[in-house]
Amino acid sequence: MKRENINKENRKPKKGIHKIKGYFQERTNPPNFILSVFVTTLKMFVVLFILLGFAGFGALLGIAKGYLDATPALDLERIENQSETSFIYDRYGNLITPYYGLENRVWASLDEIPKMLQDAVIAVEDVRFYSHRGIDFKRLVGAIINNLRNESIQGASTITQQLIKNTLLTPERSYKRKIQEAYLAIQLEQKYTKQQILEAYLNTSYFGSGNYGVKTAAQDYFGKELKDLTLRECAVLAGILRNPYYYDPRKNLYDPNRKPEITYNRTNLVLRLMYENGFITKEQYEEAKLDPNKTPEEQGFKVIEKSNRDSLYPMPHFVEYVILDVRDRLMEHFGWTGDEGRQKAMKLIQEGGLRIYTTVDPEIQKIAEEAVYNYKNLPPLANSKDRVYTDPQGHEIPQPQAAAIVIDHTTGEIRAIVGGRTPPQGRFWTNRVTQALAVGSAIKPLSVYGPFIEAGYPGGIILEDVPVPIKGLEGEWNGRGYPRNYDGRFKGLVDVRTAIKNSINVAAARIVQERVGPDYSAEKLLELGITSPLYVKEKIVTDLALGQDGINMVEMAAAYAAIANRGIYQTPVSFTKVLDRDGNEILNKDNIQVKRAVFKESTAFILTDWMETVVNSGTGTRAKFSKPMHIAGKTGTLNNFMGVYFAGFTPYYTATVWIGHDDYKPLKDDAQGGRFAAPLWKAVMEPIHKDLENKPFYDKPPEGVVRVTVCGVSGKLPNGTLCENDASGRKLITEWFPVEAVPKEKCDVHQEVEICKYSNKLASPYCPREHVVKKSVIVLPKDSPLRQLSNEQLQKYLPGAFRDMTDFSALDYNNPEDRQYFCPLHTQEWYNSQQVREDLYKRAQDLINSVRSKISDPRYKDRLNDEARNALEKAIEALLKSLNQTPVEPPAEGEKPLTQLPLFDPKPIEQNMAYLIELSRTIFDSIDRQIQEENQIQEENANQNQQMPFPQNNFPSHNTDNNRNKRGPNNKKGAQD
Ligand SMILES: [Zn+2]
Ligand SMILES: [Zn+2]
Repeated sequence: MKRENINKENRKPKKGIHKIKGYFQERTNPPNFILSVFVTTLKMFVVLFILLGFAGFGALLGIAKGYLDATPALDLERIENQSETSFIYDRYGNLITPYYGLENRVWASLDEIPKMLQDAVIAVEDVRFYSHRGIDFKRLVGAIINNLRNESIQGASTITQQLIKNTLLTPERSYKRKIQEAYLAIQLEQKYTKQQILEAYLNTSYFGSGNYGVKTAAQDYFGKELKDLTLRECAVLAGILRNPYYYDPRKNLYDPNRKPEITYNRTNLVLRLMYENGFITKEQYEEAKLDPNKTPEEQGFKVIEKSNRDSLYPMPHFVEYVILDVRDRLMEHFGWTGDEGRQKAMKLIQEGGLRIYTTVDPEIQKIAEEAVYNYKNLPPLANSKDRVYTDPQGHEIPQPQAAAIVIDHTTGEIRAIVGGRTPPQGRFWTNRVTQALAVGSAIKPLSVYGPFIEAGYPGGIILEDVPVPIKGLEGEWNGRGYPRNYDGRFKGLVDVRTAIKNSINVAAARIVQERVGPDYSAEKLLELGITSPLYVKEKIVTDLALGQDGINMVEMAAAYAAIANRGIYQTPVSFTKVLDRDGNEILNKDNIQVKRAVFKESTAFILTDWMETVVNSGTGTRAKFSKPMHIAGKTGTLNNFMGVYFAGFTPYYTATVWIGHDDYKPLKDDAQGGRFAAPLWKAVMEPIHKDLENKPFYDKPPEGVVRVTVCGVSGKLPNGTLCENDASGRKLITEWFPVEAVPKEKCDVHQEVEICKYSNKLASPYCPREHVVKKSVIVLPKDSPLRQLSNEQLQKYLPGAFRDMTDFSALDYNNPEDRQYFCPLHTQEWYNSQQVREDLYKRAQDLINSVRSKISDPRYKDRLNDEARNALEKAIEALLKSLNQTPVEPPAEGEKPLTQLPLFDPKPIEQNMAYLIELSRTIFDSIDRQIQEENQIQEENANQNQQMPFPQNNFPSHNTDNNRNKRGPNNKKGAQD
């Protein structure tokens, strides 16, 4: 479809696109060309010869022949290929903006150009245009005479000559050039009609202020279509041609160093020439004339003061992304390379009259721009002095900055690009979506978990999150050999869904290094369109697992879009087609876009499911919309808080957002992707989904995916009831599996033993039998990295696990080396204290029984007053209460095992017993004495029976503390004796 291949003879004008096609159709029956050229040229030289007179004829002929031999061929391509403005459209075909470089030019057919304007140009530039054959001899003679007088070679050119000069020849003033120009002009006139020549002239001539051709000049100066121009305006435009800088009406009217009279006089001259040559009437002339004594307003003369071309087009970040995208695709298409190729492609966009149909959705673009420009929840910077960054061009840019991109993942078409937090202030303002920005953990679905699923869960779904050096990376991470998790903790063994949900770095790094290998991880990234060499060439594990280096944001979005698109990657595209000035398609999305299956649909399904967990209950909850919508995503927080990231998708769109400093200055250390980037993602995406209904990512699980329940420790199939009976309460896990990854082996890490419920350890001989149960304990397999943990660490991260144990029956409680495996709570000492307890309980019970039997004994019953009885009952109650000290119960299922068991404390019981003994003795002794006295009195028959009430204050005080001896039982007040 290259332009060069088009047969000129077959070109037909296309309405509304471009009229030059077919315009330069050669005359079908040219007059005797050679003769004509010869005659005309001869005439010219005769004139020259006569005028120059003194020169030798032979010498002159020689020089002239030399000039003519050096004349470039009459290359029509070059007239047609004058620069022409390109147009950029949105995805619905609506114009976003014209686009041009230095020359704004839109072709107009001669029918479109008012006769008045044609006449004005002819009147002032070449009044005999329709009668000469390329050269106006009358004028030439005049010009040469002029030239001899004042050495000017201006003013002699016909319109045909000017066209040649403007389009085919370099701007050089010399006799040689003049002769070549004349020679070509004659040729042109032989081949083409006057109308064709005039049309080309009016469309290629310069009208000042960057405008080429009448159409753009009319728009730029008067804001008018050609058909709406007034006679005066036609005269203004025609007047410019002779010297576009000097006669520029905008400059003359508005530049304080210029005078409106320059334009007035010039315009009036054009009008006078039109009148004198019969193009207009005297009345028309008088009416259109400009009066130097009046202001432009007074005579209704208006030139637009500010040219549109100075203002920035809408959606600048998207428009400029497209321009560069088209540039690169044109280079590929035409095989252009290097700087030169880039310049060529750029020139074609600026001057080629292209029609570029982009993929931007103006509404989505507007929503995204507003969301980013108005986003308030920016993470604070670590140092407030970094709040403004002066870029290399001297612009002061507020920090931190932000960017966002939205892709329709079903088509790979980019719908919105926001390259900064503040609207661009000029052309090609920094567009951050094309920069390499560090992505942090947002890399994990692409390089860690996607490949892990695709490879069939090598090593199973249980991952090691422990501070043990990763094989082959022992020197990394300051020599620790493992990365830090963002909360600084380790979970021991963790299933893969939890690992991605909580963004566990150790687990991710282990997958890349120990499970899938950096080669496979990098291979998948490359297939997903990631090009950053640190990732795909150097295959650095800290990049592949933790995303510490930069990746182009568009590439990231496209890679996520591949997951959303069920594993099929599609090159992100910003345009659907590009047409050349003749309406021929040069570029088409379908020829550019690569589509490839990177992940099986089953992989995409599982990965999406996990990423939904991230948003529903993991680090990405702030991305959730206020109304229900399925969202899958992943947060990213950079090492040293250099930026925050969120990438994710709905069933409709994929978007990535970034916030960070342009000069890699750190954010405050509480900056996390979940906290700052996820809400920005929501701000961009939620309004886009306003009218879209919620729907699941998949109507049903794709083929090749099954749900399987496995042991939560080994990740293998449960071994009977052993796995669900885990002593430390680890649960079975039900997870999606690619069918080929379903484990075939049964769990071999769980073994059944007798466990003390209190300690979750092997029952010792002293453990109470009613609290001993049959449970499963974990025995680490030989190759487990957890074996490298210290005993203390092992118990911390995997409580109750045994490092190496094949036969539990061989363990001997009495062997000090084996003692560590047994319950540390129920010891011999504990057992002895229990014996003491039982003994004491028995004695206490006996005591209570004896006191109670005395209370109900008829001997005492009637003589006990209420006060005494209450005191006794209270003391019994207190003793019972102290006996009721419930022994410590074993922890409930799922709770932490006990690390300490208090030994039995006999003191409270002993104290209460002692008190009860004292009290009952005091009371009953007193009654005994009373009975004795009564008996004596009866014996003596005495009548003085003075039964005294029982004194109030003669009980021993009820003292549970240790100073009760200070007020011993004998220390009574009001004793009767
Ligand atoms: Zn198990
Ligand atoms: Zn025990």
